[in-house]
Amino acid sequence: MGPSELLACRDVSLGYEGQSVLAHLNLTVREGDYLCVVGENGSGKSTLMRGLLGLLPPQSGEIRRAPELEQGAVGYLPQQTRAQRDFPATVYEVVLSGCLNQKGLRFFYSAAQKSAALMNMGKLGILELKDESYRDLSGGQQQRVLLARALCAAKRLLILDEPITGLDPAAAQDLYKLLSYLNEKEGMAVVMVTHDLKSALRRAQTVLHIGRSSLFLGTVPEYLASPQGRRFREAE
Ligand code: ADP
Repeated sequence: MGPSELLACRDVSLGYEGQSVLAHLNLTVREGDYLCVVGENGSGKSTLMRGLLGLLPPQSGEIRRAPELEQGAVGYLPQQTRAQRDFPATVYEVVLSGCLNQKGLRFFYSAAQKSAALMNMGKLGILELKDESYRDLSGGQQQRVLLARALCAAKRLLILDEPITGLDPAAAQDLYKLLSYLNEKEGMAVVMVTHDLKSALRRAQTVLHIGRSSLFLGTVPEYLASPQGRRFREAE
């Protein structure tokens, strides 16, 4: 792998019980990249995220990760379920739990982990919510909390699966701004599944469109010029 490469998929097929959902995928994620993954429901976007996270082994081909990502150091923001929205813990506890990956066998959080949790809450503007109950927050505040939690694990890569689902337009724009800040100012690579193509195309550098029988991977201008992306250019 090259020095700036975080993830590299080489001729990867992913699927379940011998059935392929995605085949022959070649994809490299480098430091500072911002990749949007789009496609219809059921096209395999979440399956790809599971593969990138190492939760689903490839059926064939190879997914390589930079050594520092091997120890679970990827920040992951999953799709929220109703049960998670009702999670009975304080904001601080939820954010701190993002450090669990690195906790190993120790039972208590270290001072460094606690200060990282507080720092990430400050970065995302939720420090004043520290002792609030997570389930009493608005959808936008909850996503900020989950993003702060993901940052506790993330060293250089954030993976997000439909992060703005259920948010009102203003909260969605806030979340996009935060992601752009982390990407541009902190060099965090972002891989995001989204349905909200219009906003995503304004922010991302690269697009992976998973179609029924074909994959498109290219820059945003290339995507807008492609058959898959043309309708979004016309909608602008
Ligand atoms: P998307 O995220 O694009 O909506 P998914 O990756 O969730 O799509 O699903 C892609 C395909 O894989 C679908 O046909 C879905 O039914 C199937 N699938 C998803 N998860 C599983 C699973 N755990 N076992 C078997 N099939 C699955």
